[in-house]
Amino acid sequence: MGFSNIYFQKALQCINQHREQVQLQAQQEKQAIYAAHPELARLEHAIADKAVQATRAMLSGGEVRQAIQQLSTESQQLQDQRNAYLLQNQIDQKKLHPVYWCDKCADTGYDQGKLCSCVKKMAIGFAIEQLNAATPLEHSRFDNFSLDRYPKRSEQSGVSPQEIMSKIYQYCKDYAEHFTEHAESLLFFGDTGLGKTHLSLAIARVVLQKGYSVIYGPVNHLLGQIEHEHFSKEKNGISLQTMLDCDLLILDDLGAEFTTPFTVSTLYDLINSRILNNKPTIINTNLTVQELEQQYAPRIVSRICGCYKCFKFLGVDLRLKK
Ligand SMILES: [Zn+2]
Repeated sequence: MGFSNIYFQKALQCINQHREQVQLQAQQEKQAIYAAHPELARLEHAIADKAVQATRAMLSGGEVRQAIQQLSTESQQLQDQRNAYLLQNQIDQKKLHPVYWCDKCADTGYDQGKLCSCVKKMAIGFAIEQLNAATPLEHSRFDNFSLDRYPKRSEQSGVSPQEIMSKIYQYCKDYAEHFTEHAESLLFFGDTGLGKTHLSLAIARVVLQKGYSVIYGPVNHLLGQIEHEHFSKEKNGISLQTMLDCDLLILDDLGAEFTTPFTVSTLYDLINSRILNNKPTIINTNLTVQELEQQYAPRIVSRICGCYKCFKFLGVDLRLKK
């Protein structure tokens, strides 16, 4: 991944800002505590002074072992005195030192000369935020999904859309509540406005709250993002990588996008790689299997039908009924 990536820069900037902030905070805290406890300040300075003397002795050369031994003993005594003082006066030692987000890199962003894993993690978080930016997550919940809006009986087929939808609803609720990184992949199909988006957003919301990484978006938006990165100067591929790596990927409205050889092959890679890595994906589509086959390569459709649990949404169009 190219380091010039905006998400990495943003993450580095963010973590460095935090570093400066906690250092300043610890500095101010320390000054206030020293002002109230001059004895503590005296002990701290004396400990620092012993360290300087020891370094000087080592640099001077000659036979210094005994002198250093002596300084070390004195320093230990001072440290014991300081610790006893802290305890006696109930001073929290943590307040004297900055509390970093990351112990590994002390919020510098670098660990042994390499970019620290905390920066990568944060960068991925920013990428997910960006990818989900257009999603109205707060409106689509399980508790505001109404089954009353589905007819109790369909005149045409004689089945009860409400009963079928009630089962799908319950399945989705259980799916979200018991979600794991290796949950099943799901295909929701059926006409526009039957609640596919609502239920998949409700799943996304619960799974996100459980701390998993979720990317949700209309297929055309997500593929557009990958295409933009692929053909732009900055070939970092963070969107594609993030979509491959996230715990749950939700592709909304498959079939509504304009297909090109690039989007078809990217979509296949995305779906196939996630299947191979045993990572769940949820796909919504208004198209039938036959229509999907016409629009995409049959190999995509056969992968989905072979590996996903499929649900047909029934009822009259909710958007029309509203
Ligand atoms: Zn770190």
